[in-house]
Amino acid sequence: MTTLLKAKYLITNPEDCIENGAVAVEGAKISRIGTFDEIKALANVDKIIDLGNAVILPGLINIHTHLDLTNLHNRIKPTTNFTHWVFQIVGARIRWKEEDYISSIEKGIELCVESGTTTVADIANTGYSFSVLKKSPLRKVVYKEIIDLNPDHAQDVLKKTQSELSTIISDNLLSIGLSPHAPYSVSRELYQAIAQFAAERETPVCTHIAETRDEIEFLTKGTGSFPAFLKQLRAMPDNWHAPGLTPIQYLNETGILRNRPLLIHCNYITDEEISIIKSSGASVAFCPRSHHFFGHLNHPVQKLLDAGINVGLGTDSLASNDTLSILDEMKFLSLRHSISPKTLLTMATINGAKALELESKTGHIKEGFEADICGVKLPDVYGGNIYSQLLDTVSKNIFTMIAGNVCYHA
Ligand SMILES: [Zn+2]
Repeated sequence: MTTLLKAKYLITNPEDCIENGAVAVEGAKISRIGTFDEIKALANVDKIIDLGNAVILPGLINIHTHLDLTNLHNRIKPTTNFTHWVFQIVGARIRWKEEDYISSIEKGIELCVESGTTTVADIANTGYSFSVLKKSPLRKVVYKEIIDLNPDHAQDVLKKTQSELSTIISDNLLSIGLSPHAPYSVSRELYQAIAQFAAERETPVCTHIAETRDEIEFLTKGTGSFPAFLKQLRAMPDNWHAPGLTPIQYLNETGILRNRPLLIHCNYITDEEISIIKSSGASVAFCPRSHHFFGHLNHPVQKLLDAGINVGLGTDSLASNDTLSILDEMKFLSLRHSISPKTLLTMATINGAKALELESKTGHIKEGFEADICGVKLPDVYGGNIYSQLLDTVSKNIFTMIAGNVCYHA
């Protein structure tokens, strides 16, 4: 079965745009790309899908979400105080049952697919994320979230995690990862144990890091808002001591940077820490609108890109964002940063694939790659170059294909 997708423009990667382009898809894979005239003569085309005044793009890659928080959209009061935000989340979910988690994840999946996301990196706070996402058409890396600041618990927590993960089976669309949550919620011993376990099994790892100034104060001096916050949650062990290091220095010391982890946020980092990240080969997930929601200023994204670090885009959850659209993140950044549109698209596709170790499968429209493709409708009455049209406020995803399956067509 060969399907031909056509549109006014085809961007196979941020450097190559074909006018009146088309993509032939055979089964789950891309079999041919070119102009429609070049490839319409292909024998055995079973179906043509014409997206009209649109641009066909590599499917967008969202490298940081918490889909189980989707139903908290508009139910969390805006705050720049991170620990107050966490208490709101805990309070809002206190009476959630299994069906509430499941419907939240299902809604998140639907919003991702509608907005042209073909691959998502999700944090699994509960086992529901694995079971619900496994059934979904999305390509995904689901990271089991691990939280325990008590150094004495490290080995037991790892064993429990190992037994939970042994019941989940990865497949062509599902990779399983580990997410030690953050340095204020995971002990040094647990980071070390996870690093070793993940390295032996080539399991992807991600962690939240350098998100707030309070996190830096907690790690360097043991003070700030975190000790009281953790005591309220009964999560502050008596035997925990501040390492006296900045967040990236601390991760480096635990050994987990050798796993080339996905570093989520990196809102507050020094030039020295940027060098450490670069040497490690780790990637960074930048969540522009969530960063804005919390009132953080001046994310070092340009410095990270200039240093040659792989930076992809994430939406974070709807508890700190308005949509789960990576196209919306690109539009938001294009209005506030001088990052070029081509770089924004690279971050949303190729860099995302690299951050999730999927770069040999997805992120480009390329012969032999998985057919992960989206189609964005362009403004009706606007000329300008293709990137201005793509990032125009009215452009909208109208088509999503994942591994050759049409998952959404408006
Ligand atoms: Zn997060």
